Amino acid sequence: MHFEEIDLLALVEDVFEQFEGKTDKKNMNLQFDKSYEGPINVIADYQRIYQVIVNLISNAIKYSDENTEIVVGFEITEKDVTIAIQDHGAGISPEHIKRIFERFYRIDKSRSKERGGTGLGLAIVKHIIEAHGSSVSVTSTVGKGSLFSFKLPVKKVPEPYVPIADEEESE
Ligand code: ATP
Ligand code: MG
Repeated sequence: MHFEEIDLLALVEDVFEQFEGKTDKKNMNLQFDKSYEGPINVIADYQRIYQVIVNLISNAIKYSDENTEIVVGFEITEKDVTIAIQDHGAGISPEHIKRIFERFYRIDKSRSKERGGTGLGLAIVKHIIEAHGSSVSVTSTVGKGSLFSFKLPVKKVPEPYVPIADEEESE
């Protein structure tokens, strides 16, 4: 791992460039819910986090039907930033959720075969996020869709700007 200070917002923009034109076949709507001006500074391995987000968006596309929406968004608190990838695809039942992060585990192997893949994507995601001292969360409903997310600590949020006390008033 190569940890350095990176801008997560710029990273996600780079990932979106990679997916440009790649959702046309299924006519999917890949959206970036950009509610922050940025930068969102975190200490992370740029290449590995890039790979994590690519894997999660690839899954969202692969396991969703045509004409559905995928949204990538951030939520920032004092301590950390949560990155979430939401799809409106096949969804995952609770007994499978427990196992999807295992190497080579794929739900419904015969159907998954048509879609291609080895079952390593999420094992890699889990490994990388754990190497960053965090973990991956999943909430999903069969037939409705899934939300994969993870948190990374943000660099100290700057103190709010406080003007020098209004002296005129105190006189
Ligand atoms: P690879 O990523 O190696 O190309 P893969 O996509 O099958 O292959 P993983 O990314 O590890 O492997 O995912 C494991 C399994 O979890 C998938 O086969 C699929 O059944 C299920 N899965 C993963 N992401 C989603 C999702 N967003 N919606 C529904 N099912 C999913
Ligand atoms: Mg995958």
